[in-house]
Amino acid sequence: MTNPAAAVEVLAVTGALADELLFRRALEVDAAELVPREHLDALADVGLYGLSGPTDAGGLGVEGPAAARVVETLAGGCLTTTFVWLQHQGVVRRIGEAAPGVRDRWLAPMCRGEVRSGVAIAGIRPGADPLRARQAKDRWLLDGAVPWVTGWGCIDVVHVAARDDDGDVVWLLVDAAPAPSLQAERQRLVALDASGTVTVRFTGHEVAGERLTSRTTYDEWQAADLASLRGNGSLALGVAGRCAGLLEPVDLATEVDAVRDRLAEAADEDVPAVRAAASELAWRAAGLLLVATGGRAVLRDQHAQRLGREAMFLLVFGSRAPIKTELLRLLARGS
Ligand SMILES: Cc1cc2nc3c(=O)[nH]c(=O)nc-3n(C[C@H](O)[C@H](O)[C@H](O)COP(=O)(O)OP(=O)(O)OC[C@H]3O[C@@H](n4cnc5c(N)ncnc54)[C@H](O)[C@@H]3O)c2cc1C
Repeated sequence: MTNPAAAVEVLAVTGALADELLFRRALEVDAAELVPREHLDALADVGLYGLSGPTDAGGLGVEGPAAARVVETLAGGCLTTTFVWLQHQGVVRRIGEAAPGVRDRWLAPMCRGEVRSGVAIAGIRPGADPLRARQAKDRWLLDGAVPWVTGWGCIDVVHVAARDDDGDVVWLLVDAAPAPSLQAERQRLVALDASGTVTVRFTGHEVAGERLTSRTTYDEWQAADLASLRGNGSLALGVAGRCAGLLEPVDLATEVDAVRDRLAEAADEDVPAVRAAASELAWRAAGLLLVATGGRAVLRDQHAQRLGREAMFLLVFGSRAPIKTELLRLLARGS
């Protein structure tokens, strides 16, 4: 349960960081090779690497709608920096639920931002040849590819989901460092390129048995998957809100508030519809900003073109079949 006074304080600090550091340098980061280390350090310095981590492990203990508001505020400052940092948040949650040995080893350094993590789920999405994990005595061997892993160059470990010989999902904390059996190839992106997103290929990559953090059936993982995507909706609201702020006097803030309330209140099965609404709103808000700005909107020093490309990214990133169906419906009807 989030302490309301702590949440208000965290949000105030976050707002200042988002406006005074992230937004000021967002165009520079947009064109950079990689998110500057000092931006991520600034988030760690105010405790945000442990945003939802338990206070007994040095986390801030801010969860639910209050945590979502922090994500949204950061995303309105610089989506690229926020995207790299956000990958770590889900890992902190999972490690917090892990067995005591794993929790004791990793949780506090992760909350302090001394150990920074990315996540690799895309290797087990349905329909693809999955990433395989084979147990060999006291270690695991990984074989296969993960098409998208964000944060390479900014992270120490990556929390990798793979399927074992029984088809179950095993989660392993893998060092995010190149090796003969681990190759990372950069994906070049038209938005958020500085997020350091790579494709990772494992060929018999050895991982110590103690790096196993949890194991579930595939059905259990799928059942929890949609709800875990709620946080991505706050990324879209951050972009929509920033556009709304730059668009004054056009009033989009009321719509942003309404979608935020829906995102907070939606039952898990309703999350896809709200995620689609958030992405559609960001896309429309960016379109309005581009039109209102006029021809100079396409100049490289303009936030309108950056936000437009970020809104495009938010139409496709972290999608799932029901999100895509609803988004296609919203965009096709044009209202
Ligand atoms: C720039 C970028 C960075 C990304 N970074 C990461 C990252 O750091 N870590 C990471 O794990 N993923 C990452 N992803 C992948 C992302 O989480 C989604 O898996 C992906 O965006 C799904 O959309 P797709 O259209 O590419 O689906 P495809 O990969 O083409 O999948 C085909 C089908 O599987 C469904 N599907 C896809 N993923 C899942 C899933 N996880 N569970 C259930 N169904 C699924 C889709 O809805 C679709 O119907 C990234 C994606 C992008 C574009």
